[in-house]
Amino acid sequence: MPTPSPSPITSSEAIDAVCTAHGLSVAEFHALRARATEAKTRAYCPYSNFRVGAALLARAGEGEGESGGRYVLGANVENASYPVTTCAERVALGTAVVEGLHSGNGRGFRAIAVSTDAEGPASPCGMCRQFIREFCELSMPILMFDKNDTFIVMTLGELLPLSFGPDNMGVKDPAKP
Ligand SMILES: [Zn+2]
Repeated sequence: MPTPSPSPITSSEAIDAVCTAHGLSVAEFHALRARATEAKTRAYCPYSNFRVGAALLARAGEGEGESGGRYVLGANVENASYPVTTCAERVALGTAVVEGLHSGNGRGFRAIAVSTDAEGPASPCGMCRQFIREFCELSMPILMFDKNDTFIVMTLGELLPLSFGPDNMGVKDPAKP
């Protein structure tokens, strides 16, 4: 699939199209963006100085109503031993799993947003795509925001085609209720 061109955050048509395609409200779109951007300020990145924030939207729990979704934040946490660094997306997902928000507990995730200071929206690294694949459906949207208030939205399946997941190992897919 060709990479879509970034859309400006001021384009209500582009935002409406994303929300319609992925079952999000406009308020949820803006909340994902605001929270990912806020999470970026918590990055610990003295080595790269490349801040990344992530916001994960968990499904509402039983009896919580449509607006009961939880947002879980993550930021990149670097280490003097560089490979030990953890990306924002994995921090958010790990936190959410520990909080019991994955599908195995009747929740699961509806979207993840990533915000950076890059020129043009940056996508999750390969390791994070695989990590997201463990807990999220291939149809889940990944919202990517840059420093110039433009964005691109692609699904996990588009970013990680022919993916390898729990089902390949004969394990029940945590992304499926
Ligand atoms: Zn990553």
